[in-house]
Amino acid sequence: MRKGALRRDICYSEKGVMSLKRGTFSGGISPLYKKELARDKPLEVMREPERVSVPLKQHIGAPCTPLVSKGDDVTVGQKIAESEHFVSSPVHASISGRVAEITGASVVIEGTGRSAFSSAVPRNFEALSAEEIRAAVREAGIVGLGGAAFPTHVKMTPPRGNTFEYVLLNGAECEPYLTIDERIMIEKADRVVAGARVLMKGVGAPKAVIGVEEDKEAALLSLRKAVSVFPEISVAPLAVKYPQGGEKMLIKSLLGREVPVGGLPVDVGALVVNVGTAVAAADAVTEGRPLYERGITVTGGGVKEPKNLVVRIGVSFAEVLDYCGGLAPDAVRVIAGGPLMGRAVVSLDEVVVKGTSGILALTAEEAKSAEERVCIRCGRCVDACPMFLTPNAFAVCSRNALLDEALGLDIRSCIECGCCDYVCPSRIPLVHLIRRCKAEIEARKLAE
Ligand code: SF4
Ligand code: SF4
Repeated sequence: MRKGALRRDICYSEKGVMSLKRGTFSGGISPLYKKELARDKPLEVMREPERVSVPLKQHIGAPCTPLVSKGDDVTVGQKIAESEHFVSSPVHASISGRVAEITGASVVIEGTGRSAFSSAVPRNFEALSAEEIRAAVREAGIVGLGGAAFPTHVKMTPPRGNTFEYVLLNGAECEPYLTIDERIMIEKADRVVAGARVLMKGVGAPKAVIGVEEDKEAALLSLRKAVSVFPEISVAPLAVKYPQGGEKMLIKSLLGREVPVGGLPVDVGALVVNVGTAVAAADAVTEGRPLYERGITVTGGGVKEPKNLVVRIGVSFAEVLDYCGGLAPDAVRVIAGGPLMGRAVVSLDEVVVKGTSGILALTAEEAKSAEERVCIRCGRCVDACPMFLTPNAFAVCSRNALLDEALGLDIRSCIECGCCDYVCPSRIPLVHLIRRCKAEIEARKLAE
């Protein structure tokens, strides 16, 4: 990886945090954002589903084992599956009802009417130890809600000898179309800040910075008001650029620090957590509320009424789309997540999981894809890559099964952001080729 130069147009305060000008990083792209479709739609709680299918594995790590059996009555928020493995996260009933079925991969619950979660007596997190906070985060099944779904309690547990200096809250939401984090920052700024404080206590970090792309003015305003009584927490505007929300990019933009190749954010003293995850952590620790629902953006030209919705985990995409007026006649593709890092869904029976940040329905016009042509060696993919990699060379390695060569070119540092795909004039499916190559490398490793 080529080392990126420190940007001269960023001002760092005496604490090392960018303070006056916006933070940015090298590489990246400026795609069509299309956020106007849902940006002004306030958070809305979707009607409760009559049936949910709660997957046993919604996170990076070991899958959970069911704690309930067919025919059991469950209440919303009840833990229904867990694993003893540290890198794992329990799952909870998202509605009250009866377990109708346990398939290999999910617990299916049929509802028995309205099921509101009753919070435990509010807890003063300041009276808790760091260990108790991490345990509460784990017990509530909190994972990264930005899409990665990595268990948050694992992130909060540094390898021996490492310490956290900063909690960085990721409010960049740089994926086109998605606006759920923006609405959370506008409408729940106090809870975002509560999340920052809970996480700071949970990892022993003395400072926190909330990074927000500078075009999200209402969010910046709400957050600045909310942090005004907490001098240890600051709000920093970021350049509007994709993938500003990538962990390594955010650290570079906010702290001017570079995570070493193969390293972790904690190597430079940072814990990076999405703003929605921070709210979930605050709810878990102060109210004992598990992660049984989440906010998502339902948007795209292919959905009749774009919305920012709070939905129960395990509800089907079909039901969510129906709540939003249904698909437009010219919708041709549905994506889980955003257009750059999301994944096309095969069936609308697929359900919302903890890592679902949005449901995007694209029209033929929005999804248009030109025919692939040969590489013209223009180098645009290399210029756009925020990780300073060579996507064009990965494509060659992938097509010719040159796995060692791909490893030598550091393919494992690719964050699959899609910048190279986006800029390629020859429409070469670079991310698809990179993912395939990585999968082949993994398969070879397992076979060995
Ligand atoms: S997908 Fe990977 S190779 Fe392509 S631009 Fe992003 S980090 Fe670079
Ligand atoms: S952007 Fe596309 S055409 Fe240009 S060098 Fe990269 S892969 Fe080749």
